[in-house]
Amino acid sequence: MFSFLRTFTFALVAVAALAGPAAAEPLKLVLLHLNDWDKMESAGKVASVIAAEKKAAEAEGAFVLVTFGGDLISPSLMSGIDKGAHMIELAEQVGIQYATLGNHEFDLGDEVLKARVAESDFTWISSNVTLDGNPFPGVEGPQIIDMNGYKIGLIGLTTPDTTFLASPGPGVAFADYTESATSAAGAVKELGADFVIVLSHGGESLERGLTRSVKDVDLVLGGHDHLARIVYDGRDMTASSGSQGEFIAKTVIVMDKVEKRGKMSLVWSPSFDLVATADVTPEPTVQAQVDEYTAALDRELGQVIGSSGVDLDTRRAAIRSQETTFGNLVADASREATGADIAIANGGGIRGDTLYPAGTQITRKMVLTELPFGNTTVKLEVTGKQVREALEHGVSGIEDGQGRFPQVSGMTYSFDASKPVGQRILQVLVHDQPLDDNKVYTLATNDYVGTGGDGYGMFKGSKVLVDKDAGGLLATQVIDYVIQRSTISPTVNGRIKRVD
Ligand SMILES: [Zn+2]
Repeated sequence: MFSFLRTFTFALVAVAALAGPAAAEPLKLVLLHLNDWDKMESAGKVASVIAAEKKAAEAEGAFVLVTFGGDLISPSLMSGIDKGAHMIELAEQVGIQYATLGNHEFDLGDEVLKARVAESDFTWISSNVTLDGNPFPGVEGPQIIDMNGYKIGLIGLTTPDTTFLASPGPGVAFADYTESATSAAGAVKELGADFVIVLSHGGESLERGLTRSVKDVDLVLGGHDHLARIVYDGRDMTASSGSQGEFIAKTVIVMDKVEKRGKMSLVWSPSFDLVATADVTPEPTVQAQVDEYTAALDRELGQVIGSSGVDLDTRRAAIRSQETTFGNLVADASREATGADIAIANGGGIRGDTLYPAGTQITRKMVLTELPFGNTTVKLEVTGKQVREALEHGVSGIEDGQGRFPQVSGMTYSFDASKPVGQRILQVLVHDQPLDDNKVYTLATNDYVGTGGDGYGMFKGSKVLVDKDAGGLLATQVIDYVIQRSTISPTVNGRIKRVD
């Protein structure tokens, strides 16, 4: 695997000369980095900040690179409609030049990602993602960009956790993060790179210390954990911009080639800034594009489809720790649509974080805001033992508000969170009968949980009655459930009892 990767990274190194202002030695490089940006609302402000920073940098003869650290095309309300095409358009308009793949790039399947990559004017790069053993279609390997004789190496990496965080097809593989960094950085170094930057979607756990453990890497521009963070201790150097375009992470590297003992060597010094976008005036052209998308979305989704007779609770703390009305609605709708015995809906799949008062007029938009991932509902055959394991797993992260918490239909359970993980589930009833470990039940759940997402590995390998491609959209099932009833009242009725 390792030698194979080396070969293909070498083969894919692209060398480009960047047109820019005529800078005298030394080189000043301004890196404007954005990551975890999948919601369009901030695009006008992001465009405004990037344009201003570029203008200022170029006025003083600096070179500029605008980079993206992954998670662009999903999830959002609009992505549920156009599969992320609007974010590609906006990323182009704000000036992104190079991007690495985030786990959310794989939310909508391989074919959607191929289409989005193909329509991107900017360059997607990766050194650890493959499809059927080849580079992902349209995604390039390491780049070397020549800036007045300074060669800047650029490498893309993605967290291997994407395998279970998103929905990549069976042919997609994520090679080891650090090994891939080592081989790709070595490759660009051998081709003369003076300074090597990793565009990473790895989160702090993978990115911290990379410049220390892989000597050829100088800077990591990161993403995935949604933290706005700058780390520099003389050797470790990472920067990322938070999420949703709140900040631009600006890293300035001033480099010079000096003669030491008859050999030319590179010296450089960094400086950092997080440039906030909140108070800037949006760039009008990009903002107009956002407004156009928003209007189109509203037209499509704004119609009332029914109303609720009870408060609908999707508050994050509630949906991840207790039975809630909206959790019951989602679980009931998916169970009804599939005819399954039972249903499990992971609390983390419900995202609106809102308490809607009784009498609320329900629109498609509201449902899609709550269920933004475009999940389909799968139907599996599972044993009672698997169900029990799933519930134990579901309540195992309750202290940290983990999204795995199970909202249910067709069953009830009680648990004691004061007990150790794995021993918390007490009584489980399926349609008023005790759960039988050896009995087979049909289960409806979203394709994410059903394929092992959120740690529900116990469902992998189950007999699949309706797979993710055949299953209906979960949001559509909820919309249909509401439309059929006109008024819904998914009362909290003792399905989940916490005894501690
Ligand atoms: Zn991510």
